[in-house]
Amino acid sequence: MTQRLRPSEQDYQPGYFMGTTPPEPGHPVQVAPGVHWLRMSMPMALDHINLWLLDDGDAWTVVDTGLNIDSTREAWEQVFQQHLQGRPLARVLCTHMHPDHVGLADWLCRRWNAPLLMTQGEYLSARMVSAGMEPTGTEGLVEHFRVHGAAPEQLQALGARGNFYMRMVPSLPSVFQRIDDGQRLRIGEHEWQVIVGGGHSPEHASLWCAEQRMLISGDLLLPRISTNVSVYPIDPDADALGRYLHSLERFDALDAATRVLPSHGFPFSGVHGRVRQLREHHAERLEAVLHACAQQALSAADMIPLLFRRQLDTHHLGFALGEAIAHANRLWAVGAVRREADAHGVLRFVAREAANPARVQALARTAAGLAMPLAA
Ligand SMILES: [Zn+2]
Repeated sequence: MTQRLRPSEQDYQPGYFMGTTPPEPGHPVQVAPGVHWLRMSMPMALDHINLWLLDDGDAWTVVDTGLNIDSTREAWEQVFQQHLQGRPLARVLCTHMHPDHVGLADWLCRRWNAPLLMTQGEYLSARMVSAGMEPTGTEGLVEHFRVHGAAPEQLQALGARGNFYMRMVPSLPSVFQRIDDGQRLRIGEHEWQVIVGGGHSPEHASLWCAEQRMLISGDLLLPRISTNVSVYPIDPDADALGRYLHSLERFDALDAATRVLPSHGFPFSGVHGRVRQLREHHAERLEAVLHACAQQALSAADMIPLLFRRQLDTHHLGFALGEAIAHANRLWAVGAVRREADAHGVLRFVAREAANPARVQALARTAAGLAMPLAA
């Protein structure tokens, strides 16, 4: 029996130009002159992260750090002893604030007396969340999810989990070097341009090297899994999905032969096909949500089964709720739904117009909805 593929799956297959055998932790593999691929294990469903060690003349620049856990520190020790060719680690650049990317930044920066390079939005957000400042802490998150319809037992489980971020990122360097959109960084022989994108985190930095036609995409563009797009309690009305879709437009402009170095999965080619597929993915989901909101008023929590078919544990429930809010807020931002609050402040979304696939497809392609809605 043949499985019917959706159109988006037919026109995109990632070209894994480095194959599908990952490097052993602690042993970098060269992907291009001056660019080395390091993979670190993670004890979770997403079981690894890719880091990039860039030849920086008489030193090294590393992109992302891995989780703050013993096995990652041990793998780093192996890299220090066997693979740095006697040259120091001179710069630590983090694409964004998430624990698998920034977890060991403080450790690496102290160890090598190296500066931390990040965008301002990512660095300040990381500092704030790791300090547990509300509403980015547990209380704020639980209230955010309550307003979006999470059940009492789900809120209880999320509350009991406590501040995951503070545990995973207990410390950060107290100063940083700011990098910004469009900035060109000279790293060894090559120039890398910073491309700032949003939706996944506040000001995520990807790096583009025109000479090598290579993109270090961080979490913004992954070959298989779709990037988590979330709305956080500090910016609860954000059109995070609009921001993410807007960010994808930047990758449309890259050379078709671009080789992408993602934080998860394998290095791949086919950037334009992948971007197209991600747009389809979100368009289909926006369409399903809008259609359901035309039948009855739905909270973001009510939308989760429309977006995720599998059973979710507490960790994934947080991602799923964030993603559901992002889809609801996208439809709200472009005026396709209105929202109503009940006596407990729980928000539900109701379609303003018939679910029209062409309209929703258009919503997934344009960033026009980034403006705030005029009415509730
Ligand atoms: Zn991330």
